This record gives sequence, C-alpha cells and structure tokens, in this order.
Amino acid sequence: MLTPMKVFLLLLLAAAIWYGFKFWRWQNRFRKEFQRQMEEAAQFSRPTSPTPPPVPDTGIDDLAPCPACNTYGVPGQMKSCGRADCPYPG
Ligand SMILES: [Zn+2]
Repeated sequence: MLTPMKVFLLLLLAAAIWYGFKFWRWQNRFRKEFQRQMEEAAQFSRPTSPTPPPVPDTGIDDLAPCPACNTYGVPGQMKSCGRADCPYPG
C-alpha cells in the first residue's frame, strides 16, 4: 500500500540520488579541469626546466692549460710564463 509517507520518502530518495549524481558529475568535471590546468602549467614550465640555472662565475671550473708550460689558468686572465712558445701575453 502506497501511503503519502512512502511517496514522500521515495521522492526524497530520488532527489538524493539526483543531487548525488549531479554532485558527482560536478566533482568529476572539476577534477578534470584541475588536471587539465595542472598539465597546462607543467607544459608552460617545461621549456624553462631543461636549461640549468646559471652557474655562478667562480673562475675555477673553466680553466685552460697553457700548451707550452702546462699550467692551468683562467682564459683571458692568463699571463705568460716566460717561455717563447707561450701564447699568453706577458
Ligand atoms: Zn705558458
């Protein structure tokens, strides 16, 4: 027997399912949108990531040897060691 109370409960249940479904769909869409934005952000940051941050110029790690005396020095700042075949200015 279908009492008004049962009809009311059925309607309430139907409404709960309907709103639950709507909420689930909204949540799904929100999650997808969030994921898409994250991927977009990752894509935007990707071109800059392969280039390493500029190494501070310590003048230590790009030493060049003198072909005559075999001493190492900073290119451009090297002084002649006195040998005749030293390419650096005295
Ligand atoms: Zn030299």
